[in-house]
Amino acid sequence: MKVEKNWQDAHLYPPDRLAVHVTNICNANCTFCAYQYLTDKKALLKEEHFVKTIDQYQDMGGSFVDFTPLVGDLLVDPKIFDKLNYVTGKNYFKTVRFYTNGILLGKKDYPKRLLEARPTNVTFSVPGFEEGLYQRVYRTKTYKKMLKGVHEFVRINKESGSPIKVNFSVKPDSPSEESVYTEDYKKFIEPYIDEDSIIFVTDLDNWGGSIKQEDLTGNMKLAPAIPIGKKNKPCYYTFFLALMVDGHIRLCGCRYNNGTEYDELVVGHVDDNSLLEIWQSDKAQETRANFLKGKLASVCQTCSHYAPYSGKERAEKTIINYMSRS
Ligand code: SF4
Ligand code: SF4
Repeated sequence: MKVEKNWQDAHLYPPDRLAVHVTNICNANCTFCAYQYLTDKKALLKEEHFVKTIDQYQDMGGSFVDFTPLVGDLLVDPKIFDKLNYVTGKNYFKTVRFYTNGILLGKKDYPKRLLEARPTNVTFSVPGFEEGLYQRVYRTKTYKKMLKGVHEFVRINKESGSPIKVNFSVKPDSPSEESVYTEDYKKFIEPYIDEDSIIFVTDLDNWGGSIKQEDLTGNMKLAPAIPIGKKNKPCYYTFFLALMVDGHIRLCGCRYNNGTEYDELVVGHVDDNSLLEIWQSDKAQETRANFLKGKLASVCQTCSHYAPYSGKERAEKTIINYMSRS
């Protein structure tokens, strides 16, 4: 059984997860996502920032790389397969995963190149498998392209013995028989995935107050708000580091509000300090401690994605232990 660690000591262990935001550009415009309000400059992550951060995370003993951008789709990056191969080619990280809308798998060879890159997990974010629904919720006319590419990927993955664990995170706005378990699903997806691959997201997050009930369609609904008084332990997501598109490092790679990712959760830049220094910095530790004082970052105050630190996900060994072995 894993021994729980105090949050005050968590910085002595490798970050639970490193999120790598290869881009903040998306080719969809989902009703439930704060991407529609993003005002930050659109960009792609530079290779030097990518390589440096991955290498330093490995040296620290990190084991979990998540390529899911905060908002944006990783397949928009024309060099995404080089980046994925760089990480998986190390044969070191236990988990290499991401969410994608899958639209760009409609590009020639992309399903094959993704299979060859061998991430451990891929989760497709879709509203369901019906064209009208796709246009209503993802607000793009790329349903057929997405279906063709995703079908090809799940087909060849299954043919290869399912080396990549595939899931679908579905967010329909209508009853599942009409929206998810459709003819398209039965023909193009179901035969190639495991029974437990479909995950329904019924309570949608409000993105620190950016998304309102009126942004949503049909029977979609927001998750209940969490009162600030109940956010009295550091949020679990502040124990993740996220490499932003311009090389800044932020705690929590999952939510922002007020149209910008550059907020109080940004704790450094990889050109100025090592990942280890940023992870163990006073600013990072203070941001976590502030939860106990009720002094939350703006996005955290209204965020319904908050989860209290559990202490169960620490690595077996401390960073010093990992580094002294290398
Ligand atoms: S949820 Fe994902 S696919 Fe949809 S707009 Fe946001 S980043 Fe893009
Ligand atoms: S409360 Fe929300 S925005 Fe703040 S760290 Fe947790 S998940 Fe991230």
